[in-house]
Amino acid sequence: MKKIAVIPGDGIGPEVIKQALKVLDVIGEKYGVEFEKEEVLMGGIAIDKTGVPLPEETIKICQASDAVLLGAVGGEKWDTLPGHLRPEAGLLGIRKALGVYANLRPAIVFPQLKSASMLKEEALQDGLDILIIRELIGGSYFGEKKKVQLEDGTYKAWDTQVYTTAEIARISHMAFDIARKRDKKLTLVDKANVLESSRLWREVVTEISKQYPDVELNFMYVDNAAMQLIRKPSQFHVILTENMFGDILSDEASMITGSLGMLPSASLGDGNVGLYEPIHGSAPDIAGQDKANPLATIMSAAMMLRYSFNMPEAAKDIENAINKVLDKGYRTLDIMSPGMAAVGCEAMGHLVVKELR
Ligand code: NAD
Repeated sequence: MKKIAVIPGDGIGPEVIKQALKVLDVIGEKYGVEFEKEEVLMGGIAIDKTGVPLPEETIKICQASDAVLLGAVGGEKWDTLPGHLRPEAGLLGIRKALGVYANLRPAIVFPQLKSASMLKEEALQDGLDILIIRELIGGSYFGEKKKVQLEDGTYKAWDTQVYTTAEIARISHMAFDIARKRDKKLTLVDKANVLESSRLWREVVTEISKQYPDVELNFMYVDNAAMQLIRKPSQFHVILTENMFGDILSDEASMITGSLGMLPSASLGDGNVGLYEPIHGSAPDIAGQDKANPLATIMSAAMMLRYSFNMPEAAKDIENAINKVLDKGYRTLDIMSPGMAAVGCEAMGHLVVKELR
């Protein structure tokens, strides 16, 4: 039995989560696995019901689960609350409580959706299946930061970019293990020509690579990587990088793929309690109208099967089902193109379930 804590959240969160749970039910039947799902509160709905965005009860249940599946949180109603009481504080809180230090964001261009990409079709002719592994709780976002006033009345501010061997080593092992299960190619993106911390990344990753002789390792400076992602994205397979570079590159990569509604993510730490969520927000503009694309959340559930439950065949099964639904021309509004059949959130979930069966 696998225990899943489910956080529907706000806006379209509950709508897309419902479809992912339908898909997990079929996977459970097909593969003879029992998924015990427990719904918990986080975000705006938690503020309304308990006064805080991340109740203690939610943290406890998530920590005691095998994985956490999250929809999205946030909305205008809570936007005027102080920072620590806003729905998004729940997101940072749950990541911290689960100790997830690696964020995995696939950037996949489905051949059926090439026209939704910001790139010209010729840049995508070899297809695209990149996985960006971003360090999530270190680097300049978490290093010592300060702002001081100088004698002339102006200011000086700094953020310190800090990494330890241990922080780099744990995510590097994860990246090599993942690259090994894919096409055995790993690129470390850094700025080793100027940053001492980047030079430490190179040293540690190079040393660890000796334990993974079957994985081809190469290095690229982040400025070049930003350019190459647009010029020839198919040269990338698994990208490993530090926090800020990963923040920027993963958003760049998401534009290559087209719609926010197609992008899943996983956040992992030591042990297997991963956090799985679509990268989009609660989309208040379309909430409650059965217009949301549930595929990012369904693919997040597939990542959960792959990374937390070691069920790669079941994950592939879901991805194949999505491919078939797209092949048949079904589209939610965000990925709609002429000649295709428009479907809502509920119907899209149903179509994936039908293909799986
Ligand atoms: P958003 O991702 O919610 O929406 C941006 C645009 O994309 C909207 O037009 C929306 O309709 C569309 N969109 C998003 N997901 C879609 C889907 N699955 N199917 C179809 N269309 C989709 O970003 P936003 O509007 O900047 O933020 C709305 C709220 O969500 C805010 O309160 C924000 O803080 C919150 N937010 C939460 C998360 C999260 O929970 N992880 C992430 C980002 C934003």
